[in-house]
Amino acid sequence: MATPAPARPHVLFTAVRMLDGRTCDLLVSDGRIAAYNPAELPDGCVTVDAAGALALPSPVDAHIHPDKSTWGGPWLSREPAGTLRDLIEGDVRARTAFTTPVEERAGALMDRAITRGTRAMRAHVDVAPVHGLSGVHGVRAAADARRNLLDVQIVAFPQLGLLSEPGTAELMEQALSEGADVVGGLDPIGIDDDMDGQLDFVFGLAARKGVPVDIHLHDGGPAGLRQVTEIARRTVAAGMQGRVTLGHAFAVAELGGDERDAVAARLAGAGVSLVTCALGGDPVLDPARLTTHGVRVAVGSDGVRDAWTPFGDGDMLARAHLLAYRTDARTDAELAACYEAVAHGGASLLGLPASRLETGDPADFVLVAAGSLPEAVVDRPIPSMVVRAGRVIARGGRLIQLDSGLRPGDSLLPREGLEGGRRPR
Ligand SMILES: [Zn+2]
Repeated sequence: MATPAPARPHVLFTAVRMLDGRTCDLLVSDGRIAAYNPAELPDGCVTVDAAGALALPSPVDAHIHPDKSTWGGPWLSREPAGTLRDLIEGDVRARTAFTTPVEERAGALMDRAITRGTRAMRAHVDVAPVHGLSGVHGVRAAADARRNLLDVQIVAFPQLGLLSEPGTAELMEQALSEGADVVGGLDPIGIDDDMDGQLDFVFGLAARKGVPVDIHLHDGGPAGLRQVTEIARRTVAAGMQGRVTLGHAFAVAELGGDERDAVAARLAGAGVSLVTCALGGDPVLDPARLTTHGVRVAVGSDGVRDAWTPFGDGDMLARAHLLAYRTDARTDAELAACYEAVAHGGASLLGLPASRLETGDPADFVLVAAGSLPEAVVDRPIPSMVVRAGRVIARGGRLIQLDSGLRPGDSLLPREGLEGGRRPR
């Protein structure tokens, strides 16, 4: 993954409020956090005044669908839908009418995410005969154009079914040679009605290509749990511990008490990760109650302003707020756990170095107007600055053009025409 070289080798961020309440000066050298309150400064060090803002580790969006989004375009009116199949078919109908290319729509959403601090995203991109690989190519092009601002992993996602949609399996294989990084799957029972058939293909392709697996699992109840158990078993059998993810996992989110604890422990033992998106009325995974068993939990946006949903905004601090609201978080520890899943769970899932604002960590953080992490989760402020590898790349919700000659320590006023937070008109 691309990481930008810092514009200047040494930057001192002054008056930074840390998560433990201290205010200190933070020295960044060569894109990493070098020291706190340094006694002396290296030659050529420039200064950026954080003005007492709270530093948060940069968030990660572990599950998003940029190819479906209308971000930056006109408002889309949605059709009624009663089932998952209705939603899938409505999505195909809507997208055949889109006139804006995938690259432009996905790029607009990525720009929005960058201005809200997102350091990396895992993009599930539709692979189906009706779309071909246009989504994979478009999202990859949008990501390449922003490689110094955002890391993007692409999941080849069989949205219309894998075995039940002829031609998809061949496209999945091709997608991994043309821009996708991860093999996706979708409700092996609910969509394909063939658990072993879909899982044989997904795990087989992942083994052949040496890539991770990330499966959407909406199926709930006993059928959902049967698939969770089988996926955990196959993960261990394939030696893929730490490289298999279940998105949504409503069957796990429905559980409480001892049942939930037992499944969480089994997933932790198998090295299967979970991603929740805290969606509407759907069951939601509670990080505070799952991570204690050692299972990795990350958080994503899922669809953003697409044919499925009018909601979503690519802001992962806002998503932490939704997750906290949906899980009825009250204590500081519960509120913090939601953001920790967003930042640390996501970074771990995507294989990024942790950004815990400790010496030696990548200098990837956001500065927000809040007194503490729990307060930030509740208030969800727009970052006053987004810092990537020591560079300030966005201010007040707007991108800074890095090749314009602006450098950390310069005036840092965003240039006109670089509106990062474009909203649907
Ligand atoms: Zn999804």
